[in-house]
Amino acid sequence: MTFTEPKAFWIDGAWATPATANRIEIRNASTGEPVTTVPEAGHADVDAAVGAARRAFDRSDWSTRSAGERIAAISSLADALLARSNATAEAVSTQNGMPIAISSATEGVVPATLLNYYAQLAADQPTEEERPSFGGGTTLVRREPIGVVAAIVPWNYPQSLTFFKLAPLLAAGCTAVIKPSPETVLDAYVLAEALEESDIPAGVVNIVPGGREVGAYLVEHPGVDKVAFTGSTAAGRAIGEACGRLIRPVTLELGGKSASIILDDADLPSLLSKFFTATLMNNGQTCYLGTRVLAPKERYRETVDILTDFARALNVGDALDPSTQIGPLATADQQRRVQNYIERGLADGGRVTTGGGQPAGLERGWFVEPTIFDNVDNTHTIAREEIFGPVLAVIPYTDVDDAVAIANDSDYGLGGSVWTADQDRGIAVARRVQTGSIGINAYNLDLSAPFGGVKASGLGRELGPEGLAAYQQTKSIYVS
Ligand code: NAD
Repeated sequence: MTFTEPKAFWIDGAWATPATANRIEIRNASTGEPVTTVPEAGHADVDAAVGAARRAFDRSDWSTRSAGERIAAISSLADALLARSNATAEAVSTQNGMPIAISSATEGVVPATLLNYYAQLAADQPTEEERPSFGGGTTLVRREPIGVVAAIVPWNYPQSLTFFKLAPLLAAGCTAVIKPSPETVLDAYVLAEALEESDIPAGVVNIVPGGREVGAYLVEHPGVDKVAFTGSTAAGRAIGEACGRLIRPVTLELGGKSASIILDDADLPSLLSKFFTATLMNNGQTCYLGTRVLAPKERYRETVDILTDFARALNVGDALDPSTQIGPLATADQQRRVQNYIERGLADGGRVTTGGGQPAGLERGWFVEPTIFDNVDNTHTIAREEIFGPVLAVIPYTDVDDAVAIANDSDYGLGGSVWTADQDRGIAVARRVQTGSIGINAYNLDLSAPFGGVKASGLGRELGPEGLAAYQQTKSIYVS
């Protein structure tokens, strides 16, 4: 696939000339080769984007239309995106190494699914509810759009995570400035083309690609009413601090180090394809993966052997090959970071049973072999910190109480899973894990249920009705 070299930003419903000549270089993660360059936003571009979103919110009828009146425009965007789903999937896989089979099923379709879901959900919700007042009379409780949203997204699922924000905020009547990650900008241009074709009014969605400095400027911009962020815990902390100072509402979807708890009755070999999705999906570059694998002491060796054979048999290759299960990491920096964690795991006393290096024949891209560690203790760095690569640490436990204690002994609490022949037993264990979401014998993220983290994994929830409420504020009108 060839990519064009965009010259402008999508701002105020038109292609706007960048304020500076700075450009972002995009490389193919599977080959390391340059693909194209795109303009990088500066402060003046962010000012223009926020100004357009502000005008669209304050002066157009977008925010005052009923949710039902917004449906047609939102579904026109869903249609324009679906018509481009292959282009979106290819753009994402080229840049961040996501196997194309995954990007086709997620990045290519989740945006349209979420747009249609939220447009209908908002239309079905009353804008005003009349409630009996404590002091007699009635109170009208209104749901109003929160305003201009700064949406800051990472590179690992760039379009899905954009639409975790954009779909509910559009349905609620908000306007947005999206800041894509510099690692994944081409898919944001596919979105801009879809916006141009759609009936979404000018200024309602604006896109300013750039790095963390541009993101930080956007977060503090006086024209912004709310910040919705997905990314690392370190960046989330900085953004949360800024929003705290400004008393600006913020949603933070951050990192994780979740546990996959294998109970003593689990038939792991029959569950391996689901186990793969719950622990290694997208080359380990997925926030909710259960990368700490907790195995019962008496079945520890057997579990390590099963996972070692499984990891060895995975198909590692070019992200654009439909048979690839593990592609490259998104950047050379990310590859180095994962390699450093593997070295640290060995230094702490862990043992690599398979993987640990760069796969033979794939030296050009940013690959790391699927890697299994045994002899890991929950105090080791590779059990405490998010690696964001295809690396699993297998940790033994003595009984279920010990497994739950190890799972909860983490700074994070985002995802996780329980593996068992007895679903009720699995649910009982899941109830005890401190986490925002957890799966039984799989991890099937449900777009209609709230998603988010506890502890250092974040604040607030996306998806489901809770994800719509994040872009609404209530107003009480006391009618005497
Ligand atoms: P990152 O925090 O480095 O960057 C994320 C985005 O924030 C990028 O667009 C970046 O340019 C911007 N940014 C960085 N610092 C900023 C700052 N101080 N102010 C404003 N913007 C800033 O994260 P990443 O490496 O791109 O993504 C991987 C991380 O994202 C992992 O930690 C992963 O767990 C997390 N993540 C979380 C979820 C979730 O829903 N909880 C989902 C996907 C990824």
